[in-house]
Amino acid sequence: MLTRFAPSPTGYLHLGHVVNAIYVWGIARARAGDVLLRIEDHDRIRSRPEFEAAILEDLEWLGFATSPRYRQSDQDEVYLRALAALRHTHHVYACDCSRKDIGGERYPGRCRDRHLAETPGRGLRVVMAPGIERFVDGRLGPQEQSPADQCGDLLLRDRDGHWSYQFAVTVDDYRDQVTHVIRGADLLSSTGRQMRLARMLGRAEPPEFLHHPILLNASGEKLSKSSGDSGVRELRAAGVSAEEVIGRAAHAAGLIDRACLMAASDVGTLFD
Ligand code: GLU
Repeated sequence: MLTRFAPSPTGYLHLGHVVNAIYVWGIARARAGDVLLRIEDHDRIRSRPEFEAAILEDLEWLGFATSPRYRQSDQDEVYLRALAALRHTHHVYACDCSRKDIGGERYPGRCRDRHLAETPGRGLRVVMAPGIERFVDGRLGPQEQSPADQCGDLLLRDRDGHWSYQFAVTVDDYRDQVTHVIRGADLLSSTGRQMRLARMLGRAEPPEFLHHPILLNASGEKLSKSSGDSGVRELRAAGVSAEEVIGRAAHAAGLIDRACLMAASDVGTLFD
């Protein structure tokens, strides 16, 4: 069993990440599996080395293992090779649509048959054929998603030349032979398209998926990277211990009845 912890270095670690870490390391420990740490810096505009360094330092302080690890921006050939393979079997095409041209979440296919040259400033998409993807989520049970209706032809590389989240993550999870993807329920709608893309890339068996509850702030929004009082840095600076931070996160996620002290090495007991 291999799972992964995949932070984007676009901000500091907060309690929401700690909840994800508890699930990832907790389930891995309970099942004698391993955790791979992947720095998801596919978006080179928003990613910063100082956030990466801070994330690694906070994880170590919390007691979660920070190796083995790699960063996406060091793996360009891996994505280029996957793209080359995909071209053999599927229609990959250049797209010059702006967000405004697209209008919503679903790409309507405007550039599919335009045969645009692949020049800088244009994105790359792959045709998503109709069809339902089915999987049994480890917490939410049976799911059905239709990528062609949800997102249309999938973006592989954006107009700035960055690999898209969907493409990079799918290539990584396949290449690394990740068996269990454990992440927040805010990413649930990405799963069908990632399963589909993995199969298009040649992956015979999809990984298993578990989507856990995510923490919300007082106004009911997802915690942001700058959410002051839930930031691990801020809690550390205020003298809160690592065991207390983990206990608070486990409590906030509903994994324990009362906030108590919990060491990173004990999170497996939550999932026995
Ligand atoms: N990098 C993503 C994030 O920080 C997680 C992606 C994933 O687990 O698939 O939200």
